[in-house]
Amino acid sequence: MTKIGMKTPLVEINGDEMTRVLWDVIKEKLLLPFIDLKTEYYDLGLSNRDDTNDEVTVNSANAIKKYGVGVKCATITANTARMQEYNLKHLHPSPNATIRAILDGTVFRKPISVNRIKPSVITWKRPIVIGRHAYGDVYKAAEMEINEPGKVELVYTKTNGEERRVKVADFKTSGIVQGMHNLDDSIKSFARACFLYALAEKIPLWFSTKDTISKTYDGRFKFLFNEIYETEFKEKFAASGIEYFYTLIDDAVARVVKSEGGFLWACKNYDGDVQSDMIASAAGSLAMMTSVLVSPSGVFEYEAAHGTVQQHYYKWQKGEKTSTNPAALIFAWSGALSKRAEIDNIPELSDFAKRLEAAVTGVIEDGIMTGDLAKLSEPPPEKILNSWEFIDTIAARL
Ligand code: NAP
Ligand code: MG
Repeated sequence: MTKIGMKTPLVEINGDEMTRVLWDVIKEKLLLPFIDLKTEYYDLGLSNRDDTNDEVTVNSANAIKKYGVGVKCATITANTARMQEYNLKHLHPSPNATIRAILDGTVFRKPISVNRIKPSVITWKRPIVIGRHAYGDVYKAAEMEINEPGKVELVYTKTNGEERRVKVADFKTSGIVQGMHNLDDSIKSFARACFLYALAEKIPLWFSTKDTISKTYDGRFKFLFNEIYETEFKEKFAASGIEYFYTLIDDAVARVVKSEGGFLWACKNYDGDVQSDMIASAAGSLAMMTSVLVSPSGVFEYEAAHGTVQQHYYKWQKGEKTSTNPAALIFAWSGALSKRAEIDNIPELSDFAKRLEAAVTGVIEDGIMTGDLAKLSEPPPEKILNSWEFIDTIAARL
C-alpha cells in the first residue's frame, strides 16, 4: 500500500507516564502503517525538561509558531513529590502554561460524541465546545482581609503620579476585599481565537458575561467582542452561514441545558473553568474530551484534556496491561493531521484523519471499549479491552 505523504512537518511533543506509553502504540499501530509521517520531535518528558533546563519546552512552542500545527502528549506538572520521584534539579512551571504564554492562546475543549455514551442532558445532540479565556480576572487577583472598620478604595496611579480613586466599601465590621484586572489586548486575542475557531469548525459562537451588573468590567468584554465581530468577522460569518450571539451568562446557562448543542461557548476565565467541568461530566468522561490551543495568529496545538494517568502508569510498570482510554490522544493526532492537511491541501490526509476518528467511535459504538466507558455505556458493553487490544481493534477497523 502506498503511504499518504506529508509536505510540512507536524510538531510532535512527547510527554510522560501512561500517555507516553500509549503515544508510541498509537504511532506504531494507527499512524505509521498509513502515513509517511513527517514530524519535528520534542521530548517534553520530565527528565528531558529538567536536563535541558526547560529549554525544550520553549523550543517546542517556537516550533509550533514556525510550522503552525503541533500535537502534544500529556506532561507532568512538577511538584515537590515529582522532584523526588524524578530526582529533578529544578521545579519548572507547567509546560502548558509556558507554551500558552508563548503562543498567546485560548483553550477549546470539545467532547467526543459516541452514540452509546449518552450525555446526561438528553436534548444534547451535538457537542458543546467551551472556549476559555486563560488570562486574568480572579486567577490574578489581589485579595485582602479587613479586620477593623475602615474605608477600602481602588487607587490607580498614573506614571506621571496623577491619581484616580474609587470607593469599594466602607467597612463597619471585618470582611474581605478583592481587586482583579484584565487587559484589552488579551481580551481581543481571546475574541479573535474564538471567532477563528467558530469559522474553522463552522459552528455558531455564543458569548456570555454579566454586563448588566459589571457594566465597566464585563461591559468591556462585551464591547470588544462586538467590535471585533463587526470589523473583522461579520462578513466571514455570514459567508459561512453561522452567527455570533451575545447573551447574559444566566440566560446562556439556561439555554445551554435546553439546547441541542453544536456551538462554541466563549467563557470568561472563571465561567470557563466551572462550565467546562460541567460540560465534560455531563457529556461522559474526561478520557473523551479533546483540547486544542488556538492562537490569534492561527497557530494550533492539539492534545487530550486529561493528564498522564499516573496510577495506570504505576500498574503498567508492574507489568499490568491497563485499560486506559486512548480516544482523546488519538483525536489529538487526528485533529493535528487534519489541520496540517487543510493548510497543506492534502485531501488524502484529511480523509485519513476522518477515517481514524470514525474507527475509534465506530468501535465504541459496536460495544467494544475501555474500562472507563463501561459504566457509561447504554446498552452495556459487549467487550471491555485493555488499551493494546482496543488499539488493535481500531487498527483492524481502519
Ligand atoms: P489524569 O491523568 O487526567 O487522571 C485522573 C483520573 O482520571 C485517572 O486516575 C483516571 O481515573 C481517569 N482518567 C484520566 N484519563 C483517563 C484515560 N485516558 N483513560 C482512563 N481513565 C482516565 O489527572 P491527574 O491524575 O490529576 O494528573 C496526573 C498527572 O498529569 C499530573 O502529574 C499532572 O500534572 C498531569 N496533567 C497534565 C495535563 C496536561 O498535560 N494537559 C493535564 C492534567 C494533568 P481512574 O484512576 O479512576 O481510572
Ligand atoms: Mg475546573
